[in-house]
This record gives sequence, structure tokens and C-alpha cells, in this order.
Amino acid sequence: MPQLIPPGSTLGVLGSGQLGRMFAIAARRLGYRVHVLSPDDDTPTGQVADLEIRASYDDLDAIAAFARGVSVVTFEFENVPAATTAAAEKFAPVRPGGNVLHVSQNRLREKTFLKEAGIPVTPFLPVRSAADLADGVLHFGVPSILKTADWGYDGKGQVRIESLEDAAKVWRQFVGKECILEQFVGFAAELSVIGVRGLDGSFVSYGPIRNSHANHILDVSVMPAGVSEKVARRAVEITREIFSRLEVVGVLCVEFFLDKNDELLVNELAPRPHNSGHLTIDACTTCQFEQQVRSVCGLPLGSPRQHRPGAMANLLGDLWNGSPPNWQQALALADVKLHLYGKAEPRPGRKMGHLTALADTPHEAAERVIVARTALASS
Ligand code: AMP
Repeated sequence: MPQLIPPGSTLGVLGSGQLGRMFAIAARRLGYRVHVLSPDDDTPTGQVADLEIRASYDDLDAIAAFARGVSVVTFEFENVPAATTAAAEKFAPVRPGGNVLHVSQNRLREKTFLKEAGIPVTPFLPVRSAADLADGVLHFGVPSILKTADWGYDGKGQVRIESLEDAAKVWRQFVGKECILEQFVGFAAELSVIGVRGLDGSFVSYGPIRNSHANHILDVSVMPAGVSEKVARRAVEITREIFSRLEVVGVLCVEFFLDKNDELLVNELAPRPHNSGHLTIDACTTCQFEQQVRSVCGLPLGSPRQHRPGAMANLLGDLWNGSPPNWQQALALADVKLHLYGKAEPRPGRKMGHLTALADTPHEAAERVIVARTALASS
């Protein structure tokens, strides 16, 4: 029998952004206490947690003390150092486990693992020198995309290469870094599937969700994605396969490109709830954050059933533009929900919150959420 961590226990989360905040809200609704550790204070998660600990992830004494005070440790970002999870694991289970983090922290390791598991990925080559890069660009042609293997998110650490001469110039910014060169995929759509696996091996999923990006940052997500039954089934099948190979306990998002031939290619794994899944809070019986709580605590997973088509639009700091957005305008719209993350400083590109709209069709939901966001910018 898997060990149950019952409501009333204390859960630990590493990282203190909006994902931790929504996890903590779901945990508290289920009667848990939440401790959060990160290098900051007055954070989105800390504001709703029972205890906010300010410490560096490298302070292993602080990590050990944190882990001693909780029944399980989870995280809201994938770049948690391996030494941190190892220190925590001496006192409390870390879910998903260190193996999942190890694979997903490095794009080369991640894509190599997927390829070896027979899962279709964007064609890639390792790049460690200017010569590797030139060979790679000749192999894939242009454009191709150079990414650092470590620490990349929201398009950070990646450059599109348009020519061989370009490659030589671009390499100067990457010297000494382990990189990956990817073929450019002229995709028809970007999709994600969010999976959840319990301690007993049970599995549920959301999606596929259709995602569009602006400046490499997720802009709008819509579920259902409006893809064929065959593509939807295959995306879930691939997700399930990844979960069982990695023995994930918790939530993990698989990001896909759907190419012009209706073939799915995995772009990336995120071993935590995902921005594209925020709409599950308002559109589904059980949201991705409650599933994170249930799975890491050994509870039965909840129903992922979607009761209405939904769309989510991110609210970036750019919307503030000197004065707060017009909240009244957006909140006056029926079937629109506002979520704000408690961040004081609205910097450009910073995720400050999101809107979710529900409607009778995915298309209407997408239109409605854009109307609501536009209303926020009105005076
Ligand atoms: P990533 O950080 O890998 O998720 O990339 C951020 C965004 O850049 C993706 O969501 C895509 O829109 C785009 N992108 C990344 N890799 C590729 C690729 N190989 N081909 C085409 N577009 C890409």
C-alpha cells in the first residue's frame, strides 16, 4: 500500500512563484499546511503559505531543516540543483523524484532519453564547438535553432540561425557552453498534454491543449485543442509512455509540435504544473494543482473532466504601462475569471496573472479571453 500523507500534514514546496502559489491554494483547500523555501520573501507562494523560508537552494543545512519540517517535498521549477533534492530526500520524499529532474534539466539529456525510448522528438545534434555548429547547420539547413542545454525557459538561451556566417557569429555568445542544435520545425500547432501519475501508478491527463506564443512566452491556451481524435489519442499515449518510463509521481507537462504532416514531435518536458494548464482551475472538475497535491500525497487522483471549453490568456507586466489595468471592465464580462499572482512590480514580460474564459466552443472561449484582455488595457 502506498504511504498516504493525509490532510492536516505539512507539504514543502521549493520555489515561490505563481505555480507554487496555486499549488499552495489547492493544498490549503484540502486542509494541508504549506511551507515554501526560496531565495526571496513576500513571494507569490509565500503570501498564501503557512511558512515562508528565505534561503539559497545551495544552503543545504537550510534545505535539510526545511525537509525535516514537512511530510513531502515538491517543486515548482525544474532547475532545482541535484544537491538540493539529495539533501531534502534524506528527510522527506521528493516528488517527482530526482531522476525526473535530472532528465528534464538538460535539453540534450532530455531529447536523448526520449529518442532512445522511441519517442519522436525534434531532430537535434549536440554542439560543443564552432565546428560542431557549422556541421549541424550544414546538416539541418537554415533556419535552425541553437539552444543552451541547461537553464533555458521561455525562449531564453536560444537563437535562430539564418546562415553559416551567422552561425560563426552566434557561436561567440555560446563558447564554453554545452548546446543543442535543432532543426527548425514549421509546425502547424503547438500542443501540450499535462499528465498526472499517482503513487500507485494510476494516470490521468488533460489535453491536448493548443498553445500560441508571443515573443517566446506563452500567450493563449485553448482546450479542447481542435485536433483530430487520432492526434489527441497519440499525444496522450506518448505522455503516458514518458510517465511510465520515468516513473513520475506528480504532474508533468509534455510540450509538442504538431508538424504539417500531422506528426507529433516532443519539444520539451516540464516536471510540474504548466502555464497551459491554468485553465483547468476554472474548466475542470479537478485542476492540475489539486492533482499535484493528490499525487505527491498518495491520494487517489481526481477526475480531470472538463465541463466547458476554456481559454487562458497570460497577463504580462507590459499591460500595466504606467497604471493598473482596468479590472472592472474585464470582470464585468460573464464567464471570465481573473487570477493575479500578488507580484508588486509589473516588469515587461513578467507573468503577473492570467484570465480564463469559458464558452460553448473553444473558438468562442479564445475570442472571449482576448476581448477580456483587451478590455483590461482600456481606460
Ligand atoms: P522552448 O524554450 O524550447 O520551449 O522554445 C520556446 C518556443 O520557441 C517554442 O514554444 C516554439 O514556439 C519555438 N521553438 C523552439 N524550438 C523550435 C524548433 N526546433 N522549431 C521551431 N520553433 C521552435
